[in-house]
Amino acid sequence: MAERKPLISGNWKMHHNHFEAIQAVQKLSYVLSSHDLEAVDVSVHPPFTDLRSVQTVIESDEIAIALGAQNCHWENNGAYTGEVAPAMLAKLNVSMVIVGHSERRELFGETDEDVNRKVKAVLAADMTPILCCGETLDEREAGGAAARVEGQIRSGLAGVKAGQVSGLVVAYEPIWAIGTGKTATPEDAQEMCGMVRSTVRSKWGDEAADKVRIQYGGSVKPVTAPDLMRQPDIDGALVGGASLDPDEFARIIAYRLVS
Ligand code: PEP
Repeated sequence: MAERKPLISGNWKMHHNHFEAIQAVQKLSYVLSSHDLEAVDVSVHPPFTDLRSVQTVIESDEIAIALGAQNCHWENNGAYTGEVAPAMLAKLNVSMVIVGHSERRELFGETDEDVNRKVKAVLAADMTPILCCGETLDEREAGGAAARVEGQIRSGLAGVKAGQVSGLVVAYEPIWAIGTGKTATPEDAQEMCGMVRSTVRSKWGDEAADKVRIQYGGSVKPVTAPDLMRQPDIDGALVGGASLDPDEFARIIAYRLVS
């Protein structure tokens, strides 16, 4: 069975201008211990306008935090006003890109096909996609959560090779838990993340299933992180609101220290 190093990612959404982003990443680097960064991979996903500044701080201060983006287009250039290309992100040493976040799907009309194109484009630019999936409250209450999420995985990763699936990240984020303060119970989160891994196993095989990292996302806080992270199929967290405060985010990253 493959060892999966936990990955905790901060999705800053449309928060922090580039000055605030520099301060946040510097403060995070002061409050995190070298043990934290050895035990856990950490990524931050600032808005596009902050990327160059955060890249400069991370590289000049040699901070062991990966630079991530929140979205990208699937083409590398062209007449796509307002969009950002994967190659442009890769040039800034962005190594991870969130793809198919529920806010992109719900507010900006991203379809499963768009998400699949983006996953492939991120991989083609040698970056790691964090593919988001998750059900609405209506879908959960109607008993359709597993089918919805399985469908998002199969379509989001359609045509992606098993060797590539091994290296990517899936974030299971129930939509009813995002930004609402309602975290899924560790048992419910485990059940869904286990189902994601089984889906990967049945379509892409054992190696991909054992290596793919699966994050839970949805109102993760320092107090809820330890029990979530103890679940066998949860390999990390995608954190929105609580990642904006470096102290709070660092306490999530240090989840191992809470017994
Ligand atoms: C997210 O943005 O992916 C997220 C999980 O947000 P929050 O932690 O605020 O619920």
